[in-house]
Amino acid sequence: MTKINPNFQYLKKQYIFSIVEQKWEEIKKKYPEAEMINFGVGDIALPLSKTIAKAIQEAVQEMITEEGKRGYGPSEGYFFLREAIAKHFYANCNFSIEEIFISDGTNTDIAAIQDLFQSDSKIAVLDPSYPAYRDISILSGKKLLTIPCLAQSGFIPEPPKESADLVYLCSPSNPTGVVFSKKDLQKWVDWAKKTGAILCIDSVYSPFISSPDVPKTIYEIEGAKEVAIELGSFSKGAGFTGLRCSYIVIPSSLCISGKTPLHILFKKRTSIKSNGVAYPIQKGALAYFSKQGIQETAEQIQIYLDTAKILRTCLEKGEQKFFGGVDSPYIFWQIPKQFSSWEFFEKLLQDCHILGIPGDGFGDYGEGFIRLSCFSTTEKAQKAAKRLTQFFYEISHNNTATKYF
Ligand code: PLP
Repeated sequence: MTKINPNFQYLKKQYIFSIVEQKWEEIKKKYPEAEMINFGVGDIALPLSKTIAKAIQEAVQEMITEEGKRGYGPSEGYFFLREAIAKHFYANCNFSIEEIFISDGTNTDIAAIQDLFQSDSKIAVLDPSYPAYRDISILSGKKLLTIPCLAQSGFIPEPPKESADLVYLCSPSNPTGVVFSKKDLQKWVDWAKKTGAILCIDSVYSPFISSPDVPKTIYEIEGAKEVAIELGSFSKGAGFTGLRCSYIVIPSSLCISGKTPLHILFKKRTSIKSNGVAYPIQKGALAYFSKQGIQETAEQIQIYLDTAKILRTCLEKGEQKFFGGVDSPYIFWQIPKQFSSWEFFEKLLQDCHILGIPGDGFGDYGEGFIRLSCFSTTEKAQKAAKRLTQFFYEISHNNTATKYF
């Protein structure tokens, strides 16, 4: 008899973002005239950089010529993009292109690396964290180890006492917006070396790091090349959420129990499971590294960070506690104790017409928080700040009936 994957039953009934989307649509219908402010789903809010768009268009034009026609590209990505990533993102790391793989998004890559591990391996995920680490591990039948992240320790957990085969870490973190310092990462690298675990660092938000002492890659940490895989994406830093392009770094020194290096196994896996990413998209990603591309995308990142700053200032003035929003587009707001995440989410939506994401959607330890995504504009942030300032006053005086939009 045909059987479905039994692991579907262990997933949460409804995906957090689809519930939030539904609530968003309902409120827009209820107040068609109102100006809604979306700090919910972490998707880009600004148009694609002109330089990147031009490179994609030119690549398509090239393909309609006899000399420029292209079929399947290399499964692991075109040489030109892998080389540019090695040169620009990892200038001091000496990576060869054999250690860099191009793919169609970090979500794909979070799942892809699990193919390197035995089917009953133990995967450690932080709570709260980006839900894909947990859900992908559950679907593929892996064992889970949940590592609580607590506000008291700034949402940066210590390595666990228990061992794990693979650990997903994310810095800057979604949802908390906090970053791991060099010292924090060194602890994890040392622990992984001691226990034999492999670290998988999701650095999708590293383009938002501007503090000079915050590491932009795990490979700034001594010994990381022996224990860590890094995932990076063009989605958030270059506006590629609708284009799809990412990369995985698997250092050649990474082996499990002295066996075949993982990058060789991953190459084999990729040639079986992928026919590569579209040539024009990889050309667009290459244009990100041009002088103009860097400038245009940096301007966009600055808008998101300015948005975060306006919201941070507003929360500070309202004497609200929060995390993140400095080297990250996310703010994790510790909501007043009398509300649950979902109650406060509803209240914010109904009273202020502002959409956030309830923290418990990212794990049980996210309860008591709301994530604000700063993929928005400074104009929207200023409007939101006005509404919120009045809202703080009213909630601290237990007035629950006012509307602030
Ligand atoms: N990793 C994290 C931490 C994310 O927040 C997201 C998207 O929100 C992704 C990965 C997905 O990235 P991509 O668009 O490259 O699939």
